[in-house]
Formats: sequence, C-alpha cells, structure tokens
Amino acid sequence: MADIARTRDILADLVAFPTVSADSNLGLIAYAGEILSEAGARLSIHHDESGTKANLFATLGPEGDGGIVLSGHTDVVPVEGQDWTGDPFRLREADGRLYGRGTCDMKGFIACCLAMAPVFAERTLKRPLHFAFTYDEEVGCFGARALMEDLKRAQIHPAAAIIGEPTLMRIIEGHKGCYEYTTEFRGLEGHGSDPDRGVNAVEYAVRYVSRLMALAEDLKARAPAESPFRPPWTTLQVGLMQGGAARNVIPGHCAVEWEMRPVQEADAAFVKDNVQAYIDAVLRPAMQAISREADIVTHVVGEVEGLEPAPRSEARRIVSELTGLTEAEVVAFGTEAGLFQSAGVSAVICGPGSIAQAHKPDEFVAVEQLSACLGMLERLTAKLV
Ligand SMILES: [Zn+2]
Repeated sequence: MADIARTRDILADLVAFPTVSADSNLGLIAYAGEILSEAGARLSIHHDESGTKANLFATLGPEGDGGIVLSGHTDVVPVEGQDWTGDPFRLREADGRLYGRGTCDMKGFIACCLAMAPVFAERTLKRPLHFAFTYDEEVGCFGARALMEDLKRAQIHPAAAIIGEPTLMRIIEGHKGCYEYTTEFRGLEGHGSDPDRGVNAVEYAVRYVSRLMALAEDLKARAPAESPFRPPWTTLQVGLMQGGAARNVIPGHCAVEWEMRPVQEADAAFVKDNVQAYIDAVLRPAMQAISREADIVTHVVGEVEGLEPAPRSEARRIVSELTGLTEAEVVAFGTEAGLFQSAGVSAVICGPGSIAQAHKPDEFVAVEQLSACLGMLERLTAKLV
C-alpha cells in the first residue's frame, strides 16, 4: 500500500503548482504524467485550443472496454481577497490537517491516485484502470467535456468512474445539473414619446422573463416522484437583468442572465424548446415587424449535466463494496460526474475532505481522510486483478 508520507509529499508538489483555472496547468500535468509513466501507464495528453491547459488520460492494465476511471480536476479556485494564514500554494501541516489551495478540492484525491500508481502497477490488472485529470472544472467543466470527445473518438468505453470530489469519503450518487444562459434583446432605440416606432428591448425582456417564470411553475409538476433533491424539482431563476439608458429613451438593449438546475435532462430540453417556440412565434416576429435588425440571442454560459441517481449502476456497486457503505446521498454542488454519465459511463462521487472547506481560505484535507482514500484505492486493486 502507498504510504501516507509519499501521498503527503505528492500533495505538497501538487499544491505548489498554482493551477488557478485562469492559468496554465501544464506543469502539474507533466508532473503527474511522469509519475504515471514511471509506473508503466500509457499516457495521452490533450491540450485545449490555447495550448496552455491539458487533460491527462492514463491507463494501466489491459486495453479495451470495461475499465474503471479515477477522475479529478487539476484546477483550483482563486485565492484573491481571501484571508489565508500562510502561503496558499505551500502545503502546511497542523493538527492532522494539510492546508493549502486545492487540498480538498481536489488535489488530495489526485495525490492518493498518484501515490497508488506504483502499487496498482505491481499487480497484473485484468481490467483497465484509467486516470483522468482534467482542466477548467471550476469554470464550466470544459476539460471533462473535451475528454468525453476524446474517449468517444478513441472508442474507449470505461464501465465506471469514481470522481474524487470531497465527500468525506461518503458515496454521492446524484446532483442537479447547472445550465446558465445570457439572453440578449436587441431592439431599436427611439424617443420615449413615440414607443411604437422603437423596439423596446426591456419590455420584450420582461415578456420573456414572464414566460420563464411560468415555466418555472410547470417544472414543479414535472418533478420525479422519488426525487431525492431539495427542492425536488428542476429550479429556474433569473439572476440579473440589465437594460435601458433613461426613463424617456426607448431601450435598444437588454440582457437577462438566468439559470436552471435540472433534476433530469428532459427538463432542460422542455424549457429550451418552450422558450424558443415563444420567441419564434411571438416575440421575434413582433420585434422584426418594426426593425429587421431586432433580435433575441441566447448565449450558453455553461451547460453542466446533472448526475441522476442510478442505485443499480456498476459505479455505485463498486464503491459500495470498496467503502462498505450501503447508503448514497445527493449533494447541491455540481461535478464532472454528470458528463461521464451522459457519455454512458456510470459514475459516483467519493473523495477525501469536505466540501465545507472547498473554495475557502485555509482550505484543508485531514490526513485521516487521505488514509481512508488510500484504503479505498487499495481495495480497488483487489477488484482489478
Ligand atoms: Zn472540485
């Protein structure tokens, strides 16, 4: 079994890479790649368009389908404006806790995986074991999305994924999705004294928002009977609305920022189809009757799939056996797990540390949590031989 001292050393190295989502993660990827290739893993590294970020996908054991994925994101949230006791990018130990940015979210899990790589490599694995370390999770799961495309292209079909986000090593089988949009209304400015000669972007935005609010009510009735979520339905809300210049000017522009958190993918489609039909049949024709340039355009800020509970899935079964836990829970935060599930890979979330410490100053992971994670990975080895 990998020892905790080795795990701690690796975690110190990982924390020292300041992989804030806005910055490069290439140093960390090279470091992790070296440990994995020394253990005999086959690596595949894919850069994003900017060339400054990359996903690392590595495999031990045989080629082929049916493998297990250990998945973690390499990026961390910024430290600006946070009151840290020490340097956030220097691992500090006190009272059985390891402090530093990313220790629980989620470099602690990655450190455990890397520390275990030589242990996995000593055994003759009968099914593939994959390591998937991604970029840009914190800003919209862009790395994981690219990884799913790569897996599809390479025709790799893992059976199950363990996403090591901090759950205090409990099993999380579900979370809502997070779909975020900015809808822009381009009208025609004019003098407030003659409203019919302009296209009032704010007024069209209000009609659009009214439709969204009606749909938000419809969503309540669509909640699955056994929904474990709180609230049990898909929520929809408008968070920001901005438009207009002055009381006596017909506003030419308005933007509405809104989000929904689906409990099932069909709800997102229901809302999108419904508002689109309303735009096409009612709002746009009325706007364009006055000005052909007038329009409504929706920008997708992010569409992160939810994780729908699947009590009989392989991922759920395996992690139950590894942890000895029979119960699984749902959480309020989003992860990459939903992307795996949408790609046909069963997924659960289980990792060291608590989400209560994530994104906060003096983020930490307890050493005891890392030991528990190493124990889970050790038992996983036995399942792969
Ligand atoms: Zn995370």
